[in-house]
Amino acid sequence: MKKLLDVIVPVYNECACISETIQRLFNLRNLLIDELEVNFIFVNDGSKDKSLDILKSFAMKYPFVKVIGFSRNFGHQIAVSAGLDYSKGDYVAIIDADLQDPPELIKDMYMLLKDGGHDIVYGKRLKRKSETFFKKFSAYAFYRLLNSMCQINIPTDTGDFRLITREVAEAVKSMPEKHRFIRGMVPWVGFDSVPLYYNRDERFAGETKYPLSKMLKLAFDGIFSFSVKPLKFITDAGIALFIMAAAAFAAGIFFRCSVSVISSVVLFVGALQMIALGIIGEYVGRIFEESKNRPLYIVKDKINL
Ligand code: UDP
Ligand code: MG
Repeated sequence: MKKLLDVIVPVYNECACISETIQRLFNLRNLLIDELEVNFIFVNDGSKDKSLDILKSFAMKYPFVKVIGFSRNFGHQIAVSAGLDYSKGDYVAIIDADLQDPPELIKDMYMLLKDGGHDIVYGKRLKRKSETFFKKFSAYAFYRLLNSMCQINIPTDTGDFRLITREVAEAVKSMPEKHRFIRGMVPWVGFDSVPLYYNRDERFAGETKYPLSKMLKLAFDGIFSFSVKPLKFITDAGIALFIMAAAAFAAGIFFRCSVSVISSVVLFVGALQMIALGIIGEYVGRIFEESKNRPLYIVKDKINL
C-alpha cells in the first residue's frame, strides 16, 4: 500500500491565489502519484473573502481536498498547528497558499528525505524575489538575532515550508504552548534535518497577509518563547547603569556638572526601567495566556475530514 502525504496549507483572504495554488498542488499530486497517496488539508483562518467558498467547491469534487474552517482569524501559526492536529499522513508538508514556495519542490523534499533517511527537510531561501528591502533585511537580522539568543539551532532564512515525518509531526503536536513558532518548534524536537535550497518566488496575486504588527508578533513569539536571554539582559543593563550612575554622580561633584546632565541620566534610567518592565511583561503575559488553558482554535467547518 502507498504511504500517505498530507500537505497543510494555511489560507487567509487568498481568493486571488487559491484556485491557481490548488492547480499547482494537483500537479504535485500527479508527480508523486506512483509513490504516494496525497491529501491536502486547507485551513481557512477566518477569511473574509471567498476563499472558503472556493475551497468548498474543490472539496465537493475531490475527496482528497480537505478543509478546516476556523470560526475567526486565529493566525498563521495556529492554522498550521490545526493542520498538524488533523493530519494522519506518514509524511506532512507545510506550504503557504500564495505560491511563493513552489509546490513541486515538495517532491524534491520527499526524494531527499527518503533517499537520505532524514526526518525533516526544510526549505532554505536563497533569493526572495520582489520582497521589500525592509522585509528582507528585517528577516535576515531577526533569524541571526534569534539564533544568538537560543540554545537550539533554528535554521536561518527558513520559513515553515518543509516536509516532516509522522514521528516529527507527533512530537510537535505534543507541545501544548499557545504562542506557537513552528519554525522554532520543529528544530526544538530534534531529529535529523537537512535543508533544500530554493529561490522564493513572488506572491502569485494579492497582498501579503503579514502586516508589520503580525510580523512583530511572530518575531516576539520566536524570541520570548525560545529564550530567557532578554531577562538576563535586564540584569546586565542594571549593572551597567549602576556603574554609569556612580560615574555620573562622581563627575557631577568633581566638575560641578549642570543639572541637565544629571536629569538626562535620570531620564535614560527611567526609559530603561520601562523597557525592562516591558520585557518582564512579555513573559508574564505569556504565563497568563498559558494558564488560561483555552483551546488553540475553534473549528466551524470541516469537509472531507
Ligand atoms: N495566513 C494565515 N493567517 C493569517 C495570515 C496569513 O493563515 O492571519 C496565511 C496566508 O494565507 C499564507 C501564509 O499564512 O498562506 C503566509 O502569509 P503571507 O504569504 O501573506 O506572508 P508573507 O509571505 O508575506 O510573509
Ligand atoms: Mg507569502
